[in-house]
Amino acid sequence: MSRRDFLQGAAFTLAAAASGLAPNIAFGAGLDGERAAQDQPGYYPPLRTGMRGSHPGSFESAHAIRDDPTFLKGAEEAGEAFDLIVVGGGISGLSAAHFYRKAVGPDARILILDNHDDFGGHAKRNEFQVGDQRLIASGGTALISSPTPYSPIADGLLKHLDIHPEKLTKDTYDKGRDKEFNLGAGVFFDKETFGEDKLVPRTGGYHPSAEETAKFLAQAPLSDAVRNDILAIETSSKDYMPGLSADEKKDRLSRMSYADYLLKVVQADPAVIPFYQRATDLYWGCGIDAISALDCWGIGLPGFDGLELPPTATARMGYTPGKQMETGGSYTYTFPDGNASIARLLVRDLIPAAVPGNTVEDSIGARTDYAKLDQSGNPVRIRLSSTAAHAMNTEDGHVQVTYLRGDKAYRVKGKQTVLACWNMMIPFICPELPQSQKDALRTLVKTPLVITSVALTNWRAFAKLGVSYIDCPGGYHAMIQLGQSMDIGDYHSAKSPDEPIMIQMIRTPAQPGLGEREQHIAGRNELLATPFSTFERNIRSQLNRALGAGGFDAARDIAGIAVNRWPHGYAPEYNALVDPDEGLPLITARARRGSIAIANADSGGGAYTDVAIDQAHRAVTELLSAAQDA
Ligand SMILES: Cc1cc2nc3c(=O)[nH]c(=O)nc-3n(C[C@H](O)[C@H](O)[C@H](O)COP(=O)(O)OP(=O)(O)OC[C@H]3O[C@@H](n4cnc5c(N)ncnc54)[C@H](O)[C@@H]3O)c2cc1C
Repeated sequence: MSRRDFLQGAAFTLAAAASGLAPNIAFGAGLDGERAAQDQPGYYPPLRTGMRGSHPGSFESAHAIRDDPTFLKGAEEAGEAFDLIVVGGGISGLSAAHFYRKAVGPDARILILDNHDDFGGHAKRNEFQVGDQRLIASGGTALISSPTPYSPIADGLLKHLDIHPEKLTKDTYDKGRDKEFNLGAGVFFDKETFGEDKLVPRTGGYHPSAEETAKFLAQAPLSDAVRNDILAIETSSKDYMPGLSADEKKDRLSRMSYADYLLKVVQADPAVIPFYQRATDLYWGCGIDAISALDCWGIGLPGFDGLELPPTATARMGYTPGKQMETGGSYTYTFPDGNASIARLLVRDLIPAAVPGNTVEDSIGARTDYAKLDQSGNPVRIRLSSTAAHAMNTEDGHVQVTYLRGDKAYRVKGKQTVLACWNMMIPFICPELPQSQKDALRTLVKTPLVITSVALTNWRAFAKLGVSYIDCPGGYHAMIQLGQSMDIGDYHSAKSPDEPIMIQMIRTPAQPGLGEREQHIAGRNELLATPFSTFERNIRSQLNRALGAGGFDAARDIAGIAVNRWPHGYAPEYNALVDPDEGLPLITARARRGSIAIANADSGGGAYTDVAIDQAHRAVTELLSAAQDA
């Protein structure tokens, strides 16, 4: 549906609502007479393929609100009242519901609104049925892993859900497969960027020896000059900044990009840049021309050994490298569907009948019953495909939230609300906020990226080529990864190369040469303008080219594709190259106003699940303290 079609359709409905649709204001009634899509038999979005993530139908009304502030003129009174209305059904919004209910009691009436056809926000599940095999993958938030240890609040929530990452790591991973098939990393050099299509295995993991690097480079389609420069960057102990103290070096590194460091300080051949260009993509959704050399040192990119920098963070480092260096980071664990399992367990905690079962292990195979999410008898209700369009404090100290669902707008009342949605949208839906806060919120724009799940009927090509992870420095997707080998509950990943398996590919649609934020604007526009057919063509071609030498044939081996498109992906992190010294304006942006509080990972300046949980807890605490003080 084009924006014009949408606006015309909505204008008609809103006019009809304003001109006399009788409001139903009986408590607890409202939508119950209607049967929403999520209540229909067979509704099961994890099995949907094609364009997922911000799928068609999930964002058009939000963009209409952004583009036309007068868009929302009237709405139908839904006749519902809640203690808490949560906008955003991601991990932050679901956690906010959990913390609120824990504090207020099990009878607290909570409504969670989300614009997508599934809950979880970025923490989504993709499923495929290939023969008699049910394959599961993450559609976004992939792993429990953070640059800081999970706080007592976030760790406490995991424990409450019975998630124990260290124990799960021990009990569920199977390290045997990669050893048996000698699977490791590789780099796919593409013809357009490097003159030749070639997959070159790279041994040595994150810390290859000089010999391993030399062996890898000898096979790479690169000139001798470029090979020598890359070898020097990766192995040399030369001090490229002689005469400066460690603090001075760090300060200088924080004021230049890694690309400039390699070109101007290390004085490498410009042809080394394409090899490293996307080394930062998985961290910040853009390349090394937009990220500071200091942050690249912080995440372990090569070329800094001879500078002998003490491993301590500075104020001019980004959240990820800075916190990792300060604290050593968190435990890590990956469920088959990533942190969608956390979202599903939160939903089970809030609405037990919706995700049947009792243990973490049995939750993996449990099929969510979406018809149970929004039942009038339940204190907690999750309403999907519902975009909050307006939120305001009312004179009685409560809140009113208006949301769009299908072609209708509805008004609901709450005592309080947590806006756990993408923060940059809040100025549009909450116009009463002070201008300074709206300006601050507008700076918190997420990073676009795509995580593509591809179901394969077999992985013989990976086994033959000895790779499970492929960097693609010039590819449409920046990396290709074979699903991990694990057994949890009744979920068993493929053991034989003849069995079906999931792979994941990540694309970061940045525009090198611009500042980080401008790269993301360009990337977001590109994502929204790119049809699924373009993704599909590129996926098939990239896999054929990277794995063709192992006998891969996309026409035969691909069983299904879900492109999880996230124009608003990672929460923004401080970047010393483009942000003011004082950092992102998080405190101003997330200030509570009346009965409206703000959460989401955006409010914490770090794109991590523990941040999303901590911010939910802060927002709920603010609301409850304010209510107590009133
Ligand atoms: C591809 C990808 C991979 C990631 N990998 C990891 C990882 O491995 N580990 C990690 O810790 N973190 C990862 N992250 C970061 C991830 O964002 C957080 O971990 C966490 O899932 C964020 O939760 P959230 O609830 O704050 O935000 P979100 O997940 O974005 O949820 C917010 C929800 O609010 C909805 N919303 C927005 N506006 C409205 C509105 N007006 N009305 C109704 N609903 C609205 C959004 O559509 C969304 O569903 C990843 C993110 C992406 C995009």
